[in-house]
Amino acid sequence: MGGKEQTYVDEAFKTNWIAPLGPHVNNFETDLCDYTGASYAAALSSGTAALHLALIMLDLKPGDYVICQGMTFSASANPIVYQDAIPIFVDSEPETWNMNPEHLERAIKSCIEGNPNTQNAKLPKAIIPVHLYGMPSKMDEITAIANKYGIPVIEDAAESLGSSYLGKHTGIAGKMGILSFNGNKIITTSGGGALISDDEALISKSRFLATQARDPAVHYQHSEIGYNYRMSNVLAGIGRGQMEVLPERIKQRRANFNRYKIWFEKWNVAGFDIRFQEEDSEMFSNRWLTAILVDPAKNNGLTSEIIRLALDEENIEARPLWKPMHLQPVFEEYPFFGDGTSERLFDHGLCLPSGSNLTDEDFARIFEVLGAVLKDFSK
Ligand SMILES: *Cc1c(COP(=O)(O)O)cnc(C)c1O
Repeated sequence: MGGKEQTYVDEAFKTNWIAPLGPHVNNFETDLCDYTGASYAAALSSGTAALHLALIMLDLKPGDYVICQGMTFSASANPIVYQDAIPIFVDSEPETWNMNPEHLERAIKSCIEGNPNTQNAKLPKAIIPVHLYGMPSKMDEITAIANKYGIPVIEDAAESLGSSYLGKHTGIAGKMGILSFNGNKIITTSGGGALISDDEALISKSRFLATQARDPAVHYQHSEIGYNYRMSNVLAGIGRGQMEVLPERIKQRRANFNRYKIWFEKWNVAGFDIRFQEEDSEMFSNRWLTAILVDPAKNNGLTSEIIRLALDEENIEARPLWKPMHLQPVFEEYPFFGDGTSERLFDHGLCLPSGSNLTDEDFARIFEVLGAVLKDFSK
């Protein structure tokens, strides 16, 4: 927390707007639209709920195909399976670590043709690219392919609030976008999410579905299955306060990245080859997490796991990248189109400490451990 969160929460208590809905929810939605450039937003209970509703509104039925980035957190794919639909996983490309447009098109063609991987020939109902660790996907190429085949895009922008590509905020290049305010994200409402879109009908439908799909009648009347997915007014109050500190959070996260980058560059000059996710000139990443790739073949045998264990020994937490979905026991039966890039990212990758509140002393401790490990592996 950092801004006026407490003030907004107190206001909710004072005015007795504790029930779901209320003025903070409306204002938080307006804040999200102003910030992202989306025309409409629905504040929901989580990013997962937002993605689930997005898929329901695209009429996702059992056996339908949805193409999903494989290198991601499981929440990008779970809602596909909630609908008994079939996720088709697509590999990443090496610069952004996000959906590879070439493999995307291969996957679409396979769905349309119905080859042994994808038995029933039909057009996928949606494409879900992810902006991993805040890095924008190559949305111009992805939307061009999606438009060529007439497939709607739902952007998973759960990790990329504040990131943009070609001057456009992530989440607004496709038909719908989802945001997350879970506890681990760049800003948080403790738990929460949002659906954003330029299509007013979709956003009002999502609000209807998220509040148990009550028909407009004085009694309780339902013609559709609904969900309890709306954000509460108390949490939206936290969200309003967090929106005020978001620019500062992005600055802090990007400063973390630059600090790591400059520090590792010195070691790279001395013979190492530690790599990062690369922004091109049209990309702006919120740098939610700073992650590195350590290929042992190019780093004198040093691995990301050796670094992780050395940090762990000093009680400093670092974690492997998301394990790709096609390698997960729960998803391994589903089709995958790729070339080994995400396996390699998973094998070589490590998320470094990236909190917005890292101090100079924290960095001194981190660099002391990292420096000792790199020294051991210097030629
Ligand atoms: C966090 C996250 C989600 C899910 O958001 P929740 O609000 O936790 O449900 C979806 N996709 C990605 C890539 C995420 O990191």
